[in-house]
Amino acid sequence: MSAQNGTELGSAAHLLEEYDAFAIDLDGVVWRGEVLIPGAIEGLKAIRASGKPLLLLTNNGGYHPNEVVERLAEGGFELALEEVLTTSLVAREWILQNGMKGAPAFILAPPTVAAQLADLLKIRYLETGQTADFVLCGRDTDFNYNRLRMAADAVRGGASFLSLNKDPVMPVENGGMLPGTGSIVAAVEAASGKQATVLGKPEEPMMKAAAERIGYNKVLMLGDRLESDIVGAKRIGWDGALVLTGLTVSDAVLDPRPDHILTSLQALAL
Ligand SMILES: [Mg+2]
Repeated sequence: MSAQNGTELGSAAHLLEEYDAFAIDLDGVVWRGEVLIPGAIEGLKAIRASGKPLLLLTNNGGYHPNEVVERLAEGGFELALEEVLTTSLVAREWILQNGMKGAPAFILAPPTVAAQLADLLKIRYLETGQTADFVLCGRDTDFNYNRLRMAADAVRGGASFLSLNKDPVMPVENGGMLPGTGSIVAAVEAASGKQATVLGKPEEPMMKAAAERIGYNKVLMLGDRLESDIVGAKRIGWDGALVLTGLTVSDAVLDPRPDHILTSLQALAL
């Protein structure tokens, strides 16, 4: 039921009947950092009990689908590998579809991203004297001036320039935030004078890949970030539900307006 401010204060179980499939964001909805969000597992179980397709859809390319399956299994929720879509998987598709297989590449992202692309690219260390035809930005925790310089030189020289997403921050435990991929790619864009092709939500590469798995019609996307989750859903004709356990903690000013607002994923189970 919708309250005056649009928040589903109590049960949102009716959404399980209204929609045919569910796409669910991870960071800020299912967990924050290492900690599962209270009630998230119950919400996922309610979706599973509905018998309808679900897909966990994350801009965080650092997660391997196996890791997502294992972490949720520890919490008591069984998930199939095919029910996880990360930006690293979308990057693999992009590389194959755009003839970049075998390209020398700079990966400004955690080793877990590079490992998932290592069979498709010639990954090069970012050192002076090296160059690349493919530059991919992620949440590069080793970011420094020299890596920025190398990446910008390659992009200026004509390398394909991609970013896993443009999320400026990543929500973690205890209300904390870490600099996100958007912070890294902003620096490379500034230094190179070029704009990156963005793979993750709300952009089409990830939204289309998701829709190919669970459909275009009567799908509800549940996420904590208006600019990626809700905008991405709208872009391909899905409805969007904002979940208030992550980044957007107040529903005072929301544009675009989500179709539903849930205090947590647990509302699906109430
Ligand atoms: Mg999120």
